[in-house]
Amino acid sequence: MSLKFSCDMMLHDVVRWLRFLGYDTEYSRYKRRDKNRIYLTSNEKLNDVFLLKHETLSERIMTLEKEFRIIENAKPFTRCSVCNVLLGIATETDIDNLPPFVKRNFDSFKKCPECGRIYWKGSHYEKMIEFLKNLFPDLLNL
Ligand SMILES: [Zn+2]
Repeated sequence: MSLKFSCDMMLHDVVRWLRFLGYDTEYSRYKRRDKNRIYLTSNEKLNDVFLLKHETLSERIMTLEKEFRIIENAKPFTRCSVCNVLLGIATETDIDNLPPFVKRNFDSFKKCPECGRIYWKGSHYEKMIEFLKNLFPDLLNL
């Protein structure tokens, strides 16, 4: 999976989702174009970028799947949704301060090397996967 994206500020929910799916996704800096990135925007005045004109998140995600196969090639639970960097494995010390029920119920923890956030496949993760399964019942094998 080598797709990289760049989105404008209006697409912050799309940014969060693309990172959740494992894609390197930055906020656009149009003055410094990176030709290895796919530029997404909701602004109809911009040329030369992929226009996501639909209003709802569901429609936007479906458009991105149709165009770029983002679900098929997704690697969820691999990237920090805040920092956009790849997650590492969390150590015992890293998870020391997590609530006891989290430590009891989950056995896979990852840590962002940048911000230190700990990730596990809790209810937030489940909700996002559920949302995707509703959109793509046939496709998703996450
Ligand atoms: Zn982070």
